[in-house]
Amino acid sequence: MTMQTHPVDHDLVRAAAHVARTRCRGDDHTMAAAARARDGRIVTAVNAYHFTGGPCAELVLIGAAAAQGVYELDTIVAVGDRDRGIVPPCGRCRQVLLDYFPGLKVIVGDGDRVRTVRITDLLPESYVWADHRFDTE
Ligand SMILES: [Zn+2]
Repeated sequence: MTMQTHPVDHDLVRAAAHVARTRCRGDDHTMAAAARARDGRIVTAVNAYHFTGGPCAELVLIGAAAAQGVYELDTIVAVGDRDRGIVPPCGRCRQVLLDYFPGLKVIVGDGDRVRTVRITDLLPESYVWADHRFDTE
């Protein structure tokens, strides 16, 4: 399978890396995410680790964005603390991101392999929640 790639938003990667470097502390916050809103704004967040299944940075970011009135995201990237670089979204996040933002792009890879791909390319043959929701009216 060949994925179509898109230009990399390096400012977005730098924003996530900055938050990872300056805000991640200890074991509770180990990942940072940054997303470009449709209106150009950048929203950032960190994960909230907990053994019961605390949310990844990408999921915290969805709520943080909504709290700022941002409901449309164009691109997202996650960066690990301790200089781990770009980390691709886990399976749960891929599903959630696809359901919230079907047109979302995700920055993945590292070094000279950094690239931007569509969330739908990261979850082929995916379950689409919206297709299985019934209107109650
Ligand atoms: Zn995740």
